[in-house]
Amino acid sequence: MNILKLRLFFILFAVCFILPAYGMADTLVSDAISLFPNEEPYTAEKTEPEYTETFLNYNGEHFVPAHLKALLSKTNRIVLTFDDGPHPNATPHILKVLKQYNVRAVFFVLGLQVEKYPELVKMIYDDGHIIGNHTYSHKRLPDLSEEEIRTEIRRTGNLVASITGKKPTLLRPPYGIGVKNRTLQKIAAEEGLKFFLWTVDSRDWKNKNSKAILTSVEKQLGIGKKNKVGGAVLLHDIYSTTANAIEYIIKSASSSDYVFIDPYEMNLTNQELMASRMKNEYRSFDPALSGNDLLVTVLTKEKKEIKTIDIIRAHRQGNLMLFLALNK
Ligand SMILES: [Zn+2]
Repeated sequence: MNILKLRLFFILFAVCFILPAYGMADTLVSDAISLFPNEEPYTAEKTEPEYTETFLNYNGEHFVPAHLKALLSKTNRIVLTFDDGPHPNATPHILKVLKQYNVRAVFFVLGLQVEKYPELVKMIYDDGHIIGNHTYSHKRLPDLSEEEIRTEIRRTGNLVASITGKKPTLLRPPYGIGVKNRTLQKIAAEEGLKFFLWTVDSRDWKNKNSKAILTSVEKQLGIGKKNKVGGAVLLHDIYSTTANAIEYIIKSASSSDYVFIDPYEMNLTNQELMASRMKNEYRSFDPALSGNDLLVTVLTKEKKEIKTIDIIRAHRQGNLMLFLALNK
């Protein structure tokens, strides 16, 4: 067998065994429920948003559920959104998975968390995700005075800007409430913010179980069913169970021909979306992200000159694959 044949054999070997393993090899964080320090002064969404059909069209520019449904529900498009973080229990793992699958998401951060974990905000921003404003301390905004609402929103906007240089332009009021509130509408307009709610509640705050989160999202999006229902999915990057579920959600939706988009892609036609995707597909692949040592070795080691005798020796010793991997 000559070297060319051996190379071909190795490539076949890689396609059959290494690459599929790469998809599964990712070490997932523990499925155990992450317990939060008692001082956490906020809780994840515990109520459904208080919206009714009557106000939904009051302003087509805000991404309230009806507007999101109009843009997404009859499509195969999904926007992933993560609230209440950043948090070391979940955000880094979620970022890793999103990068691996080339998915861009929105992180609605809390000012309190931004103060604690500015480096995570930087990571979210550097990975090209969109950072939204989820207020400073997760209070029910309609219960606050005008000045308090302004402070809750401005403080977070300024904190994010101090890290990324940009103030968020999307606002998700805690619990999704207050979008009918005139004072909040006025302040959002003054601060250059648009509401961005959701259409699919993963219920990850309730089902602190990765399988249940996946099932809930699959059911609401019609994954695996005949009729696809695209949507904006509410998740929380504070639970390890959510972090754990993300890869499965992405895999399940992708295998059902769903595409993950960011809010700025919601208005694109299919053709425009495909064109914007083409650019991303040519991004260079980073083997380090695969977590597969053999793939990292094969793709990153410098090429060495291979002597036939060394190949024969390696073959006799039963180390041929390793030899080829190490010597590319
Ligand atoms: Zn929240």
